[in-house]
Amino acid sequence: MRYNVAQLLKEHIGGMRHYQLRQEIAELDPSLKPLTDLTGNVDMIRTHDGILVRADLRTSVELACSRCLTQFSLPVRFKLDEEFLPLTDINTGARLPLPDDVDEAAIIDSNHILDLSEIVRQDLMLALPLVPLCRSECKGLCSRCGQNWNNGACECNDSELDPRLAALKQLLDDSDSLN
Ligand SMILES: [Zn+2]
Ligand SMILES: [Zn+2]
Repeated sequence: MRYNVAQLLKEHIGGMRHYQLRQEIAELDPSLKPLTDLTGNVDMIRTHDGILVRADLRTSVELACSRCLTQFSLPVRFKLDEEFLPLTDINTGARLPLPDDVDEAAIIDSNHILDLSEIVRQDLMLALPLVPLCRSECKGLCSRCGQNWNNGACECNDSELDPRLAALKQLLDDSDSLN
């Protein structure tokens, strides 16, 4: 996701480039399991200080449901809106002052390469759900037998316990209360 923006940096404010992105992102983040390439439109616009990147991107990732632990695929769409600042002046090669709060991931290096990958990684991770669910009404797992309740109910219901197990349970409860 590296773009040489030397020509665009030489243009007047408002100068623009349009790119179609298709990028394999298996290596983007160790915690990410992408199922498809990252695709979408990328616009780069020359601003007073640098280059504004606007992108509309999509991919599909594999996540584990936080209730039933089943792996499922989630389509993700997210936007980038980030101004990249050049490290050096395109005409003189002189080092440019960067603001104190500059995002290191949004710096155009001294070879005029604008690398989108870290900003893409950050925005993609933010676009993922904090609590992934395979479906909004996921019923989860039984904490006693591990049955996936999406596949049907289990038999772990106290009122339906086998009478012999109920007697055992009573014994265990009694011994607990002795301690
Ligand atoms: Zn689930
Ligand atoms: Zn159960």
